Amino acid sequence: MGLFSRFSFSRDMGIDLGTANTLVYVSGKGIVLQEPSVVAINKVNQEVLAVGLEAKRMLGRTPDNVIAIRPLRDGVIADFDTAEAMLKHFIKRVHDNRNPLVRPRMVIGIPSGVTGVERRAVEEAAKEAGASEVYLIDEPVAAAIGAGLPVSEPTGNMIIDIGGGTTEVAVLSLQGTVLSESVRVAGDELSDSIMLYMKKVHNLVVGERTAEDIKIQLGSAYPTDAEEPIMEVRGLHLLSGLPRTVTIKAPEIRESMSEPLSIIVEAVKRTLERIPPELAADIIDRGIMLAGGGALLKGLDTLISHETGIVTHVADNAESCVALGTGRVLENFKDKDMERVFKSHTRYE
Ligand code: ADP
Ligand code: MG
Repeated sequence: MGLFSRFSFSRDMGIDLGTANTLVYVSGKGIVLQEPSVVAINKVNQEVLAVGLEAKRMLGRTPDNVIAIRPLRDGVIADFDTAEAMLKHFIKRVHDNRNPLVRPRMVIGIPSGVTGVERRAVEEAAKEAGASEVYLIDEPVAAAIGAGLPVSEPTGNMIIDIGGGTTEVAVLSLQGTVLSESVRVAGDELSDSIMLYMKKVHNLVVGERTAEDIKIQLGSAYPTDAEEPIMEVRGLHLLSGLPRTVTIKAPEIRESMSEPLSIIVEAVKRTLERIPPELAADIIDRGIMLAGGGALLKGLDTLISHETGIVTHVADNAESCVALGTGRVLENFKDKDMERVFKSHTRYE
C-alpha cells in the first residue's frame, strides 16, 4: 500500500433512506445524521429551499409558492428527482471532503419490495452524490442486524419494521430473507386516522404534524393498567371556522387507529402462517422483534403478542436499527460472511 492510499482512506457510509427519516452512519464514527426525509421546494423555479428538519417544520405551513415534499412518502420513491436531491444534500453534509478524489463506499437499506426501477434510482442518486461503490441491502436484514439478532445463525428470526410509509414483516435465517411481507400501512396511516377522527367526531381540523404529536403523546395500541391520559389539541373548528382547543382522551385515539393497526396485525399473522415448521419453532422460542419508529407506539408489542400468542419485544434504538445494521455491515466489510447480505453491488469508475 502506497503512502498516498494510506492517508486518503475514505469514510464509508451506511444509509437508511426511510419514508419518514433518513439516517447516515459513517464508519468509525457512528450515526452522524438523523433528519426527516422532507424537502422544501420553490414551485416557481424548482429550487431546493430546505432539507430535513427545517423542511419538516414547513409542512402545512408553506406560502403558495413553496411546497414541502416527502419524496418517499407513500411506500417507496414517489418523487425521483426530489429523492435524489435530498440524498445528495445529506451525503454532502456529512462527507468529509478534504480529498475529493476519495469517494466513499455506501451501504444503503432499501425496502424488500422495491422494483428494479426504484432500486436503480437509489443507486443513481448515490453515484451522483459521489459513491465509488453502492451496496444495497434489504431493510429487514439491516434492521435485524442493527437490533442485534443473530442473523448469521441457522435459526429463524422474525423482525417487523414499522416505518412511516411501510411495515415490513420478515423471517430471516442465515443472513437471508426466508419470507417477507410488506404492507403500505404504517405510522403515516395511524396519524391519518387520527386526523380523520378529529374532523369527524370533534369537528376539528388538525394538520399532519399535530396528528403525529397526538399519536406519540397520547396514542396507544393496547390499554394499559395505568391511568389513561388526556391531551389538549388545537386546530380549526369546522363549524365556526375559528381556532379552537379540544380535550381528547387516550381510549378514543386508540379506537381511531384500530383499522390501520389491524392491517398491520393481519400482515404479521399471514407471515406466521407461511413459516416452514422448523423455523416456526425457533420463532416461538425467540419471539418477535419490533423495529422502526412505529414500533414505539405504546402497547404495540402487547397488541401483537396478544394477537399472535408469541412474545414480542421492541428493539433498543428501534428508530435507528436499519442505520446501525448498515453500519455493522460497513465495519465488517472484510468478513467474507457479510457478502451474502447484499442484494446488489455496483462499482463506479
Ligand atoms: P421510515 O423508516 O419510514 O423513515 P421511521 O422508522 O423513522 O420511518 O419511523 C417513522 C414513524 O414512526 C413515523 O410515522 C412516526 O410518527 C413514528 N413514531 C416515531 N416515534 C413514535 C412514538 N414514540 N410513538 C408512535 N409513533 C412514533
Ligand atoms: Mg425504515
